[in-house]
Amino acid sequence: LEGAPKPHVAFLSSPGIGHTTPLFELAFRLVTQHNFQVTFLVITNGATLAQTEYLNANPHPDLHILNLPLFDISNLVSDDMTAFVHLCVIAEQSIRTSLPSVLSRINRPKLQAFVIDIFCTGVFEACKPLSIPVYSFFTSSAAFLAFSLYLPVLDKEVKDEVSDLPDPIKVPGCHLIRTRDFMGITKKRNIDEYKWFLHHVTRLTMATGVFVNSWDDLEPVSLKALRHELCFRNMSVYPIGPVLKRGEPEESSRQVIAWLDKQPKESVLFVTLGSGGTLTSEQLTELALGLELSQQRFILVVRKPSDCAFATFFSAGSGTEDPEVYLPKGFLQRTNQVGLVVSSWAPQVAVLSHRATGAFLSHCGWNSIVECVTHGVPMIAWPMYAEQRMNATLLSDEIGVAVKMPVVGDDGETVVVGRKEIERVVRVVFEGGEGRKIRSKARELEVSGLETLSCKGSSYETLARVAESWKKGN
Ligand code: UDP
Repeated sequence: LEGAPKPHVAFLSSPGIGHTTPLFELAFRLVTQHNFQVTFLVITNGATLAQTEYLNANPHPDLHILNLPLFDISNLVSDDMTAFVHLCVIAEQSIRTSLPSVLSRINRPKLQAFVIDIFCTGVFEACKPLSIPVYSFFTSSAAFLAFSLYLPVLDKEVKDEVSDLPDPIKVPGCHLIRTRDFMGITKKRNIDEYKWFLHHVTRLTMATGVFVNSWDDLEPVSLKALRHELCFRNMSVYPIGPVLKRGEPEESSRQVIAWLDKQPKESVLFVTLGSGGTLTSEQLTELALGLELSQQRFILVVRKPSDCAFATFFSAGSGTEDPEVYLPKGFLQRTNQVGLVVSSWAPQVAVLSHRATGAFLSHCGWNSIVECVTHGVPMIAWPMYAEQRMNATLLSDEIGVAVKMPVVGDDGETVVVGRKEIERVVRVVFEGGEGRKIRSKARELEVSGLETLSCKGSSYETLARVAESWKKGN
């Protein structure tokens, strides 16, 4: 109807750019392709400079960002995975208190749906009395979604620690999961982080539907299992990927792009470890010297070394230190003909879409994976935290777009990878037959990612169907 307000949807993401970005991009898609207006609620505690710059760089008149008031986080422990979980717990408590009044303010025009990410399940209770259906956007793989939905079953059936089981775990219809690939916090049942994760994945089935950032050509087995074997009440799973971060602000990319413009086609290895990833001092030295030995061109993002693999999660994008301090003596001078070292943060999508980029050494966060395969770039998998070991195995053993760096020892603990090994893996990807194979698979997925988002493509149609149902109010 002409003049009638556009249908209205609200979004809420838990802290962290890896969650906020895909939710924001889905909101953008609803606004630009399906004629919605969106109120996008942002938890400002823990928001990094990179996240704020990204949200500000992508305005749209029908996408209203509403910053939630800061809550007290003075008790938060240091920068590690515990701090992230702790922040999410405090955020949930605060949201449970404030959401009813926020909802009464924003529920005009009436919300047709509320989309949350996995760690915001406190929203269900507030939406129920207003009859607003809640959907979740699961921002990792379909394989990890299947594992997460199955975890409450495992938790009941297995007496000891799931991670102590001698055999890999079989989630119905899915690939086997080696216990050493388990996410750290699912390895010990009595810790608060495990209980917190279990709480949210158990409640996920209260959602009317779950979007997942994947598509059939990327994860055929897990998506089939989610459709046919892991059916939970009325909850439907909607693969709508690839949901991609669009370009970064131009000024942040200028220096890196100017350097890439001078490099030959597919010659550069891009190295960055997500929003949180940090190496120990010893590992950073080995990585730098391994790159040097490989004689490959590279862009290396350097962060202050730390014993915590997750140390920059709350500061991503704001490091201004001189990287030279953390690198082996003379490294910058010896490699300045072939390498570019960047402090803290690089414009990842701009780099991955550049013709000179030939491979990506990544921590295997799901957004990084999706950004990488949709640009046809093969990977070196260097998992660090969260579900990344599972993602790395999926990439190398099932999808075939990555070579794994051997960062996990026989006992399942993280080990330091030496420079010679790093040199070897880099050469495999750039010089060997295996490198050609994973490159060609990545190219296939680039094409299929574009197809599934095109007008008759499956991810486009899936979202269009849900959008239509929201417009009709069911
Ligand atoms: N990112 C970036 N520059 C960097 C490192 C990361 O732009 O130097 C972006 C990347 O493009 C991705 C996000 O940060 O969109 C990281 O999300 P991911 O799910 O890969 O990992 P997380 O940070 O959640 O572990």
